Amino acid sequence: MSKNVRVRFAPSPTGPLHIGGVRTALFNYLFAKKHGGDFVLRIEDTDQNRYVEGAEEYIVKSLDWCGMSFDEGPGKNEKFGPYRQSERKHLYKQYADDLIANGKAYYAFDTSEQLDAERKGHEAEGKTFIYNWHNRAKGRLVNSLVLTEAETKAKIEAGDDYVIRFKSPQDETLHLTDIIRGNMKIDTNVLDDKILFKSDGMPTYHLANIVDDHLMEITHVIRGEEWLPSLALHQLLYDAFGWNAPEFAHLPLILKPTGKGKLSKRDGDKMGFPVFPLEYTAPDGTVSRGYKEDGYFPEAVVNFLAFLGWNPGTEQEIFSLEQLVSDFDFSRVSKSGARFDPDKTKWFNHHY
Ligand code: GLU
Repeated sequence: MSKNVRVRFAPSPTGPLHIGGVRTALFNYLFAKKHGGDFVLRIEDTDQNRYVEGAEEYIVKSLDWCGMSFDEGPGKNEKFGPYRQSERKHLYKQYADDLIANGKAYYAFDTSEQLDAERKGHEAEGKTFIYNWHNRAKGRLVNSLVLTEAETKAKIEAGDDYVIRFKSPQDETLHLTDIIRGNMKIDTNVLDDKILFKSDGMPTYHLANIVDDHLMEITHVIRGEEWLPSLALHQLLYDAFGWNAPEFAHLPLILKPTGKGKLSKRDGDKMGFPVFPLEYTAPDGTVSRGYKEDGYFPEAVVNFLAFLGWNPGTEQEIFSLEQLVSDFDFSRVSKSGARFDPDKTKWFNHHY
């Protein structure tokens, strides 16, 4: 690899890290270490409503227990830090303003009531509601007509609430590439003009994530499949800023033991099986068990998690973290979901 590999694990501190998150961290860690690169921890805490006190500490302790030490992150080697987005918020507005100045984003003043009415109106007529510049300009969004520059300025000066939305291009076919999934195509006309900057003065996940990945010189974005639908917008944002996009790898979902649907904490509770690395006490006092307290070895948990979506291509099942680093390869990461099997976890622990 020509450039120094830099990956990041970017959890939102909205609660404890569950095994899906630990698996994402692990694949980032393995890839970084395999290529002698950096593993960055970035806390994505721009959504104030979902912020949970203590979640960051829990994440750091969990990574530590698993033996995945990060090279840069809150409190450690702060090359591009601080790595809490809430402490970098001054940065993001500037970038949103740049997009506005270049005609790639716009102010929108719709209230949530207006948006709801719009959505219901579309539903009643059996139409899909797509909020984009094109539909606004054509008068297809009843409440949301395009304003002149002077009208926009007047509204801002009057103190009206606004958001900044990305202006998705129309009538284009976007070509996307993912290391695991290969090439994909998407018609830009199906995209909503997503909000980049909220009326509370905070960036959305999309804007902060792209700006930070660019500023932190991230070369590979490795994250869960649930983010695949955001790839088009992210690629378009890189294009709009004139930045090179990193490479992307979207990891397969972790499925319930039945193989149907995404594994949730409730599934873990039902099986009497932890989905958290460490014990977790929720703000309401509810305590959930963790692997550590249930007597699992971190090595067994890491080994088990590596097999959730990756296989070594051999019969070997027991791997140390060092061996995983040397054998890890995206060509052996599956596209299809990985079924979670508690018995397998016990088997791994037994063999350690
Ligand atoms: N903050 C996002 C999350 O919690 C990160 C997604 C990404 O890696 O881009 O999953």
